[in-house]
Amino acid sequence: MKKVFKPLVALAVMAAAVSAGAQSYPGGKPITLIVPFAAGGPTDKVARDLAEALRKPLGTTVIVDNAAGAGGSIGANRVAKANPDGYMLLVHHIGMATMPTLVRNIPFKVDSDFEYLGMINDVPMTLIGKPSLPASNYKELVGWINQNKGKINLGNAGVGSASHLCGMLFQHAVGVDMTAVPYKGTGPAMTDLMGGQIDLMCDQTTNTTGVIESKKVKAFAVTSPKRLHTAVLKDLPTLQEMGVKDFNVSIFHGLYAPKGTPPAILKTLNDALKVALKDPDFIKREESLGAVVMTDKRVEPAEHKKFVASEINKWSPLIKAAGVYVE
Ligand code: ASP
Repeated sequence: MKKVFKPLVALAVMAAAVSAGAQSYPGGKPITLIVPFAAGGPTDKVARDLAEALRKPLGTTVIVDNAAGAGGSIGANRVAKANPDGYMLLVHHIGMATMPTLVRNIPFKVDSDFEYLGMINDVPMTLIGKPSLPASNYKELVGWINQNKGKINLGNAGVGSASHLCGMLFQHAVGVDMTAVPYKGTGPAMTDLMGGQIDLMCDQTTNTTGVIESKKVKAFAVTSPKRLHTAVLKDLPTLQEMGVKDFNVSIFHGLYAPKGTPPAILKTLNDALKVALKDPDFIKREESLGAVVMTDKRVEPAEHKKFVASEINKWSPLIKAAGVYVE
């Protein structure tokens, strides 16, 4: 008899411990948000703002750790392989949907190595150039590009990043090859663009609004199908208006945990995310920079996962048709 019951007792004790652990989560222990790009860029910015907004509902410190490199796959891989205890999470962008096609052989599986916690925001990109670039609108930019074939540098946040995707699609659209200059994020790339070390870049409006406003870079177009409404960006034309057919690149960010994180912890995190996304300071900041904060069903884990899967299906043929993937 004893032999039969012992494992059951052990199982009951384990289950009680798991549920007690989940109940006390986070129990004052700090939670780390891994940002797979360098500090100072748009993913870093949204993660830091989110960390602030999550502090109250989670009742603990939320810190940001930049694990940059390889177009966002180093940080994603770190979280994919982390202990699934709710103390290390990932903030990542559209790369979760484009990396599987843009880059072969990523060391993790987007669909099965993560728990999806909900989407955060959606941000269009802007096509920007160094301040000394002798063009003051999109048409002049295209003229300059055609006169400088073979000499143009285009910064990005590494192969597989959003700026890589946008930059490759732009080169394909204008039919001119440019030299890609990879950084660990568009934070450091922006410093070089302002300094004139690189010529052009695509980056999220959350990172470009300030430098466009202060005229530290030149802005040529937005990548959304409609013009934006923010004070700084409202006069920028869309690439579609400028004749680049179907150009529509918008960058979502989402929150992820390692696969196997206990359901009760996932619920605590999703509940906290929903509260954070309603934080008026968070919303105000995001909206002033051209981002849309997620409030709809995409904040639900199942919908988030469905959305990423649909984005993989959307981008895969486009990336392949444009021939812009990296073997
Ligand atoms: N904007 C970057 C990208 O191109 C990422 C970043 O630095 O946040 O993917």
